[in-house]
Amino acid sequence: MIILPILACRSLLLKSFLEPKIAMIEQMAQGLSLFGVLDMMRKHSSLLASVFTFEGWHDITSEELIHLMVPQYSDEGTKMKNLEINVFKHLMDFITSLQYAEPKEHGVSVKDVMKFITGTNKVPPLGFPKHINVSFLHGCKENCRCRPTSSTCELTMYLPVHYQSYGAVADIFMSALRDCQGFGKI
Ligand SMILES: [Zn+2]
Repeated sequence: MIILPILACRSLLLKSFLEPKIAMIEQMAQGLSLFGVLDMMRKHSSLLASVFTFEGWHDITSEELIHLMVPQYSDEGTKMKNLEINVFKHLMDFITSLQYAEPKEHGVSVKDVMKFITGTNKVPPLGFPKHINVSFLHGCKENCRCRPTSSTCELTMYLPVHYQSYGAVADIFMSALRDCQGFGKI
């Protein structure tokens, strides 16, 4: 007698959660079949599960994240480049400190930095399609307190150069990471 309500609930759940997504799933299946990926998924489902589910995603380390970042420096020998090198060095130190800090020490982690830049807090099984560009923002007004922002689609972070000490970089990043869990520039 209890089975009937359970079945009814299951049908309702399927209808409300799955039905609106059927068209989207079919469209994705069509796209995957164009290059034979759908057939491969059906034949080797256990092998490819890690590629198409969160099973194959892993937490990033500070070393991996730093390795992904490519600073877009100004021309050699300019004052702008010196400012850029300095702020970028402090950012690298901050990211490294997050890796080895006690979890509660900063209230943010390397995963939060990665989510701020890429929109995901884990590394996809096949990695990212490209490096993370770090662009530097010059020309702010005196005493500007603008925060770093990111374009998650372009994998680009915009870093203001007016933070020239480790403390200032750490403070503004912690503030940005705590308050900006969503997206900056899409
Ligand atoms: Zn600014």
